[in-house]
Amino acid sequence: MNVPAIVILGPGALATARRIQTLYAGSQVYALQGRVAADVPYAELGAQLRELYARGTPIVALCAAGIVIRCVAPLLTNKGVEPPVLAVAEDGSAVVPLLGGLAGVNVMAREIAAALSVPPAITTSGELRFGTCVLNPPDGYALADIGQGKRFVSDLLAGESTRVEGEAPWLDDAQLPRSASARLAIRVTPRSWNGRADELVIHPRSVVAAVTGGAGAAADTAVGSASAGVAASAGMASARTSAGIAASVRTALNEHGLATLSLAALLAPSDRMADPALAQAAADLDVPLRFAQTRPEDGDPPSNLLHAALRIPYETLHDDPDAGVALALTALAVDANTIGAARGRLTVIGLGPGSAELMVPAARLALDDATDILGYDTYVKMAGPFRADQQIHGTDNREELQRARHAFELASAGRSVVMVSSGDPGVFAMAAAVLEALEAAGNDAWSAVELAIVPGVSAALATAAQAGAPLGHDFCMLSLSDNLKPWRIIETRLRHAAEADLVMAFYNPISRARPWQLDKALDIVRAYRAAATPVVLGRDIGRPGSTLRTVTLGELRSSDVDMRTMVIVGSSTTRRFTPGVEGGEWVYTPRWYE
Ligand code: SAH
Repeated sequence: MNVPAIVILGPGALATARRIQTLYAGSQVYALQGRVAADVPYAELGAQLRELYARGTPIVALCAAGIVIRCVAPLLTNKGVEPPVLAVAEDGSAVVPLLGGLAGVNVMAREIAAALSVPPAITTSGELRFGTCVLNPPDGYALADIGQGKRFVSDLLAGESTRVEGEAPWLDDAQLPRSASARLAIRVTPRSWNGRADELVIHPRSVVAAVTGGAGAAADTAVGSASAGVAASAGMASARTSAGIAASVRTALNEHGLATLSLAALLAPSDRMADPALAQAAADLDVPLRFAQTRPEDGDPPSNLLHAALRIPYETLHDDPDAGVALALTALAVDANTIGAARGRLTVIGLGPGSAELMVPAARLALDDATDILGYDTYVKMAGPFRADQQIHGTDNREELQRARHAFELASAGRSVVMVSSGDPGVFAMAAAVLEALEAAGNDAWSAVELAIVPGVSAALATAAQAGAPLGHDFCMLSLSDNLKPWRIIETRLRHAAEADLVMAFYNPISRARPWQLDKALDIVRAYRAAATPVVLGRDIGRPGSTLRTVTLGELRSSDVDMRTMVIVGSSTTRRFTPGVEGGEWVYTPRWYE
């Protein structure tokens, strides 16, 4: 299950929220901005709850049940995800599961209530009677048909008893009315449900489908074409397109009377890790995609992949080298994480300037999904808190390429790696170093890593927004650091940018090792720009103790600036004004030119 969001409205709920937080590693407390500070600030309760709900995030809201219901009500008519939603009294005296009966809300209600030493307000009849939700089997099991499940449970509630056929360890402690001669049966089986109304069928995820792409696919891969569209024959095409792969797996399952919901994973050869058709096929089948390497001398049969990847006993049900599909059946549900290896991932993210609300949601999601987090110590700390199961590789090492290589080493071993930069990862930060390391290595395993770059709010944009809109017209971003480029290049660019009347955002304006460069840069700019030109200085924007000042180019001294400062030098049209008597000052560059 996803990690829940714990949502509070005021300081009175914080202590209870923190107690609930200890139950769910990695969970965060969302707090109403201006009223109470916790892990993630939000501006408006309704919008925040709806966003969490739509993302499928379980919600524990420490406020009146009615408020929660009103907030999410507009989303309830849509079918789709229904995550657990609970209302908890802010003093911890009541725990009320509201939504997500099939997603484990009652389990959460029991956990939270136990931690708070109160009885949970469970209202689900089946749950009350049997002590468990029969329709919500644990991970590794899937209910065949929810409609049939509901009918079945109402029969039990009406007084019937049931047999249990197959292995259902989670039902051992349930107070089910059992009888060996019962008309009703709970059947735990990988075989498809045959439509019988007196059976509740639950599928253990105990089938693994191996796909090799079929005869000819290996040769196709050998000439370097991973694209599905270039297959020379219809047979090959069907084995290499996502629809073809998913269809051939479904056909094989059907032949053996197996339910698609019994599938635990799709398994493919490691050299096809980067093939998008496989990722799509696994998504179609709604199972994890795993990889294994067979030895060339073992030949082509797809069953070899099963042999290479499965570490528990299984029965080979199907082995069709022409279609390139094999099926393995294990005795119990099998955890996909134990089958072969995953395709590793490397996501390069930007944290934004510092505060959590200026980090884009995709970066937060990547952090939540990561097994390993790499980056410069200060930034890694800003990205936390992390779960105990996440590996942190913080370093004060400024060797960016070495850090990038470390990230690829981890990701190519199947880990889910996030590389952290401040601001935007593509602006004077790690994304370019990661690509440079990848290009230089020419390493197939690194190339197979699922690489993504998630943008962030760069310091210039965050500073500009606080000041007003100094970047409202053409502008450029320059790093004044001559660590990685010769000073003469910087001088040339400054001259051209100043002459072109571009607003300039200076990154890395000064440091102890580079004390004179900023003065030199300002001398160049002053040769082209009036002394009255506004200059915005943003220091530690989005972080504690941030400051924002506007000075003129004439007044500016390098002692006003340090390495945590963003310097935005206006163009000839950049203006500043104070609205009304009391208001603060705004700086902007108009959209037009004279
Ligand atoms: N990738 C980062 C920039 C890294 S270069 C980004 O997109 O923002 C580092 C420089 O960025 C610092 O020397 C400083 O000039 C600027 N900077 C980064 N964070 C800042 C912040 N919170 N406030 C002001 N300037 C910042």
